[in-house]
Formats: sequence, C-alpha cells, structure tokens
Amino acid sequence: MTGKIVGMPKGLLYHYYYVLWKNFFDALGFRVRVSSDTNKRIVNTGIMSAVDEACLPVKVFYGHVLDVAEQVDYLFLPRIVSVTEKEYMCPKLLGIPDMLKACMINPPCLIDTTINLRNNNSQIYQAIKEICAIIQVPLKDGIRAWQRAEKAQGDYELYLQAGNLPAGFNSNLGEYPIALLGHGYNIYDAYLNMGMIHKLQDLGARIWTKEMVPKSIVDTYARKLPKRMFWTFGKQLLGSGLYYLEHNQVKGIIYVASFGCGPDSMVGDLLERWARRYNNKPFMFLTLDEHSGEAGLVTRLEAFMDMVKRRVG
Ligand code: SF4
Repeated sequence: MTGKIVGMPKGLLYHYYYVLWKNFFDALGFRVRVSSDTNKRIVNTGIMSAVDEACLPVKVFYGHVLDVAEQVDYLFLPRIVSVTEKEYMCPKLLGIPDMLKACMINPPCLIDTTINLRNNNSQIYQAIKEICAIIQVPLKDGIRAWQRAEKAQGDYELYLQAGNLPAGFNSNLGEYPIALLGHGYNIYDAYLNMGMIHKLQDLGARIWTKEMVPKSIVDTYARKLPKRMFWTFGKQLLGSGLYYLEHNQVKGIIYVASFGCGPDSMVGDLLERWARRYNNKPFMFLTLDEHSGEAGLVTRLEAFMDMVKRRVG
C-alpha cells in the first residue's frame, strides 16, 4: 500500500468505468475515495461553479469534483477523447479537465492524462505510461494493474449484459419489460432522475437498459442509420434503442435526456420518429434539468405505464 488516496468524482464516466479504474488503482496499492452520492449541496455547488452552457451532468460533475478534491492526494480527471476506434466522446467531456482546473483554487495533483483510442486501442499503453509517471509507480506494475483492471471491467460488462442493473438496484422486479435509455449518469443517478428506476419498478416495469445489449447487436442496429454515428454513447443509445423497438418482449421505451445535451436531442428525436413511423410502440422522451419536479415526473411515468398495461391487455 502506498497510503496515498486517489479521488474519483461520482459523476459522468464514473457510471461506466468505475470498476476499471478502481481495480487499477487498488492493484497499485492506492486507496480510492469516491465523492458522496449526488445530493442537493453537490448539485447547487456544481450549478454555481460551472459555465451556464454546460449540460446538467457536467454541472453536477463539478459539484462531485469539489466534494472530493480536498480529501485526496490525487484527483482522477482524465481527458477521455475516444474509447473506441473511429469514434469520439462528446466535446463537453473532452473539455472537462481544463474547465475544472480553471475553477479549483488549490487542487490536489491531477491525473489528467489524455485517453485517445481513436486510431488504435494499443494507445492505452501510452496513457498508462503517463499515469504511472504522475503517480510515480514503475511502468511494469502499471501494465500488470491495467491487465487486472481490464479483466474486472470485462466481467462487469458481461454481468450487466446478463440482464443485471448496477449495484444498488434490484434487477428482478416488475413484469412489464420497459427499455429505459439514457446516459449512465442520468439513468443510475437516483438523485438526478428522482428515483426513476424505483418509481417505474413500483409501477410494474421491469427495467432493461442499453448496458444489457451486447456491442455486436448495438453495431448491427446502429448501421440502420444511413450516416455513421461517431459519438460512442450516441451510437450505443441509437443501436440499443432500435433493437428494443423491434424486440417483441419490450413493451415500451423511455428516453431520458439531459437539458443542454446536443447528442441526446438528436438521438432521442431519431428514436421517437422511428418508433412512430415503424413500430407504434409507446415511447416517452423525458428531459432532466435542475428544475425538474417530482410530481410532474410521477404523473408522466404513471400515464406511460397505464398505456403500456392497456396495450398488453
Ligand atoms: S453527451 Fe450530453 S449529457 Fe453527456 S456530457 Fe455530452 S452534452 Fe452532456
């Protein structure tokens, strides 16, 4: 154990890659400290600190960074440009380290390595080398830790694909299969979405997510679009959405978007049009923003589930 602490903000890509990076730093003898669950204080701090143009999840991420920054030796804030060949992350994610550096007064040592696998997956080793240099561990240990972490992440993704929700949710509730689509940081953040998964399960929904759809199926369905989608998460949402639209067991689709998100407004709109034109399956588009009210959400979820139940008969 080095005894040093690496801070991880519990927002944005935490909801995709926590298992990977937690295992990586654990294997190197670091302790990982995660910011608190999203709460009113974190949201308000984020809103006050972030630029007005940022989408809601980016604003909330600011709050998480400021929540954990003072308690750690290192802050894990990579610039993730691309995680898949020939694809990109959203531009707002690319700018995260620079935007945050500008608003922190005495930040801990930042691990702000660029991760860009746009041309070649093996470029991850350049990123590992840079991280090892920042945290001062031998490269050979870093590579060994990375291999262990990759295995853990792969196992976790298979666990989700087997129909499971992340920790903290019960995957076995509900009898009406509903696809709940959206970025992980919207779907799995129970404060931001006002407990949407639990509310839907109380209404009888069985939740299916984009993480349950294997990559090969996502790729096949995303190719239905005449133009290639080069945003990784946009492609996952589009491919899984088109798959669920054709899936006989899925009785309805809810798309959860963030206010201020360009990719969401495009992908959600495409899926909604597709649903109306070809499938006639109940489809609801919900937008989260910092002013979303719980009563309005409950009314819409109840109306949606009533429609699903009427159709099923
Ligand atoms: S994909 Fe949308 S919600 Fe996510 S960071 Fe980009 S703009 Fe924000």
